[in-house]
Amino acid sequence: MVDTSAVEQFRKSVQGAVLSPGQDGYDAVRTVPNAMIDRRPALIVRCTGAADVIASVHFAGEHDLVVAVRGGGHSVAGKSVCDDGLMIDMSAMKGIRVDPLQLTARAQTGLVLGEFDHEVQGFGLATTLGVVSRTGIAGLTLGGGWGHLHAKFGLALDNVISADVVTADGRLLTVNTAENSDLFWGIRGGSGNFGIVTSLEYRLHPLGQVLAGAVFHPASKTREAIHFFRDYAETIPDELVIQCGAFSLPDGTRVLGIAACYCGPPSEGEKVLKPLRAFGSPMADAISVMSYRDLQQMFDPFFPPGRLTYVKSNFIRALNDDAIQAIADLAGTSPSPYSFAPFLEHWHGAATRVPVSETAFPHRQHSYNIMFWSNWENASESERNIQWTRDCWKAMQPFLVEGSYGNYVSDEGDAFARAAYGPNYERLATLKKKYDPTNFFRMNHNIKPAA
Ligand SMILES: Cc1cc2nc3c(=O)[nH]c(=O)nc-3n(C[C@H](O)[C@H](O)[C@H](O)COP(=O)(O)OP(=O)(O)OC[C@H]3O[C@@H](n4cnc5c(N)ncnc54)[C@H](O)[C@@H]3O)c2cc1C
Repeated sequence: MVDTSAVEQFRKSVQGAVLSPGQDGYDAVRTVPNAMIDRRPALIVRCTGAADVIASVHFAGEHDLVVAVRGGGHSVAGKSVCDDGLMIDMSAMKGIRVDPLQLTARAQTGLVLGEFDHEVQGFGLATTLGVVSRTGIAGLTLGGGWGHLHAKFGLALDNVISADVVTADGRLLTVNTAENSDLFWGIRGGSGNFGIVTSLEYRLHPLGQVLAGAVFHPASKTREAIHFFRDYAETIPDELVIQCGAFSLPDGTRVLGIAACYCGPPSEGEKVLKPLRAFGSPMADAISVMSYRDLQQMFDPFFPPGRLTYVKSNFIRALNDDAIQAIADLAGTSPSPYSFAPFLEHWHGAATRVPVSETAFPHRQHSYNIMFWSNWENASESERNIQWTRDCWKAMQPFLVEGSYGNYVSDEGDAFARAAYGPNYERLATLKKKYDPTNFFRMNHNIKPAA
């Protein structure tokens, strides 16, 4: 434990609040959306800017405290909160400046997706982020960032053009293709392994309305619907992003939903989406022209904070007929009505044309990512839901590649992390040795410094 006088000195050295257990606000900040995670940091610092972040890094270093960094708090693995140690909370840092002429935005890393979208949509602009608006821009972007615009504009991290990073020795470095370019490579996919990112500069794209929403089929038609989904996916342009999966509507009806977002001209989208809307006999067709900002909040009600969540996810080698049958057999069997499982994301277009070694993020070559995103409400149901999720993943093993998208998984340890960074791991380990030789930043899918 750190002695009280050192804590008092730390309090004076930062502008943001420093919270100890029991103080007002302490529980609200340490509580993350996944109720599986219940950790108690020794101290929480609510940073107001880079100066607070630098002071916090020095303080943690001097007192040998483990550090957890919280952006939007949505890591399903709970990486943004530690037991004991110092939780560095970025969520009060919400500055953003849009440059509508240069088509860029410089954003502090306490922003969540909805706040970012609100500001850039005010200028008729957007960039790729995820599909639930409470997720943090930082964790999402540094780990990858799949969303409705990835096929047209690349992943969120492909749209980062510069960042400010506080490293383990307390320096603030600007990273981009001209300055500290090795670190710029590493933060785009290396998650929080290399430092605390205080701001990100994104490339923006003109975007107002989209043709988007979902069609719902009865659960009994799951196999046929996924067959259609696969065949259709092979024909679609970069403007269209689709995903499909088994879940329950609010009235409890189990369905197979296919969600779509077409980001080109809506009149063109009507033609492109025609086969999707004509397939089978959907129970409902909720596709319409809407603002991109509205689309970005459409899935929010399905992911309220406070549920318990356990996720397994992996890319599929080939979505062949046997794989589809295996997926269809698992659909509708989740013990919980709140799960999205199994669920398939189609990855294509611009995100998959980036070479594997261009950024630290290696997953560029597989077309389908499958998720078993289990959510439930009572801790007494945890064992059953976790076991079900693991059983599903085991059943899918013959069809999966090694290595997952790290942002989508619960904590699976070192071997998992190594596989998740794939062919980029050795280069990342060398970079880790350069910028964080003591593994100061280790509350993440961790990269061990090279020997
Ligand atoms: C409901 C839900 C929906 C999701 N939808 C999508 C989606 O559509 N697309 C997608 O790609 N992903 C999605 N994800 C996964 C999401 O990308 C990850 O969970 C991501 O880590 C969340 O970022 P965060 O800032 O909210 O999380 P946090 O838990 O705050 O942080 C996650 C990790 O990033 C690190 N980190 C956070 N801020 C910083 C920083 N400023 N500097 C350095 N490291 C930092 C943390 O230490 C931690 O290791 C979703 C997750 C949830 C729970």
